[in-house]
Amino acid sequence: MKRSELVITAPGPAGIDPAALTREQLLGWRCALCGTLLTGDRPLGTVTLSQGPTLTTYPLWACDPNCATEHAWRAAIGHAAGCEACRTGECVTGQRLLDAYSAAFRQEHEGGAG
Ligand SMILES: [Zn+2]
Ligand SMILES: [Zn+2]
Repeated sequence: MKRSELVITAPGPAGIDPAALTREQLLGWRCALCGTLLTGDRPLGTVTLSQGPTLTTYPLWACDPNCATEHAWRAAIGHAAGCEACRTGECVTGQRLLDAYSAAFRQEHEGGAG
């Protein structure tokens, strides 16, 4: 068994467990919150990890504008890309996914209740 321990020297941004982050998340390839491959991203803050004597601070990134909206958008375009019915605009599933995206987008911009 190899020992390569990461010691967390500073707490991460709220809701993030630095010890649970993958290398891809630390390098900013994937969302630090949900692990989705990032296209648009927003800064979340930084975590500092130590490996032996070396301290490294990693900036963390997350889905933009947020994970729920990003997932809804990906679901919609992922479906439409392989769907014949969507090309003619008569696809119930495609419409439902787009509606879900619109709802998530609106919710994000309204900031919830209030
Ligand atoms: Zn995310
Ligand atoms: Zn479709």
